[in-house]
Amino acid sequence: MTPAERRDSRDSADPLAPHRARFVGSESPLVYLDGNSLGRPLRVTAQRLHAFVEGPWGERLIRGWDDAWMDLPLHVGDRIAAACLGAAPGQTTVGDSTTVLLYKALRATVGMRPDRTEIVAYADDFPTDRYVAASVADECGLALRWLEADPTGGVTPEQVAAVTSERTAVVLLSHVGYRSAWLADMAAITRVAHGAGALALWDLSHSVGSVPLALDACEVDLAVGCTYKYLNGGPGSPAFVYAATRHHEHLVQPITGWMGHADPFTMGPDWRPDPGIRRMISGTPPIVGMLAMQDMLDLLDDVGMAAVRAKSVALTEHAIEVADEVLAPLGVEVASPRDPERRGGHVTLQHPAMREVVAALWQRDVLPDYRDPGGLRLGLSPLSTSFAEVSRGLETARDLLADLTA
Ligand SMILES: *Cc1c(COP(=O)(O)O)cnc(C)c1O
Repeated sequence: MTPAERRDSRDSADPLAPHRARFVGSESPLVYLDGNSLGRPLRVTAQRLHAFVEGPWGERLIRGWDDAWMDLPLHVGDRIAAACLGAAPGQTTVGDSTTVLLYKALRATVGMRPDRTEIVAYADDFPTDRYVAASVADECGLALRWLEADPTGGVTPEQVAAVTSERTAVVLLSHVGYRSAWLADMAAITRVAHGAGALALWDLSHSVGSVPLALDACEVDLAVGCTYKYLNGGPGSPAFVYAATRHHEHLVQPITGWMGHADPFTMGPDWRPDPGIRRMISGTPPIVGMLAMQDMLDLLDDVGMAAVRAKSVALTEHAIEVADEVLAPLGVEVASPRDPERRGGHVTLQHPAMREVVAALWQRDVLPDYRDPGGLRLGLSPLSTSFAEVSRGLETARDLLADLTA
């Protein structure tokens, strides 16, 4: 077989290939390479949404809260924990956006280290993480210590150790870097934080549903993550927060609403937090937003994260191989780690003309993402992306780049 034939045979050899047909739009020639910004919907989700309007909402009405909705954030949290996080039940809940939950989680961690004066965060992390770190530092009178690291290779335990000290309250870090997909060593970095007496707060937005996690085994303190990326929850679906049981008693978050109260319906004079993870909830949870992700969790339960990760690695290896063959001759560089053990589920390809290339790709129904500087980002959602789709997208990029630079 030629290299091209070998590549073309990959979908027929892929045991997960049949799952792609479960996603809306999979029959169209559109090439979707942005599943890490917004996952495709599952076909069964249309039925779930319709049935919800007719039944639990339309028929049960206010009784729905007693039937299921009061506990739904905890129930779905436990499902995410079991399917993806490597976390025992009772430590995860769903609600708010990632940004808001990150704020609540960061304030809670800082509150657990009242004698400490610094927050450690990564200088090139996703904007929300940097902005929230800055505002919490400001609000709580703490200093920010920025971690500097190579944007492709990402943050190492040694770099974290170099800026972490007896002054550090918390180390905040993405598990998978949003630009290059570097994959941090969660166990080692959490150990470094703990060695200094600090807490570790992880942002799992680009790993949940793509890279298997072991939050309990790594002794992570708190974590947050997004559900509209690899969990296919739909635009703006609510995020989740994990807090290890050992911290619940001391976990005080800043938005003390009635729904995190130990007994919401006493409507008493003072806020008394629920003893468990429910204390991270503030107001009425977004029930409608929790529907679609349950279909993806069903599918992840069936397939298992080990198989999902194997496909994810195969897809990113494939993308790098095709890029090396068809795009490298035009000056395109792979700006993601080449070692799959150090890489999450996306691949970034760099060239000064990429902004124009990505705009032209969108015109042709090839949808990757663009991130400065000059980065074409391929988000390869393992269950909804085919190998042929990746090849087709990159070959189209080659044609456009060749025209642009001719
Ligand atoms: C996608 C993403 C978010 C999203 O935050 P929202 O509040 O949902 O907009 C946050 N952090 C990281 C690292 C992300 O990748």
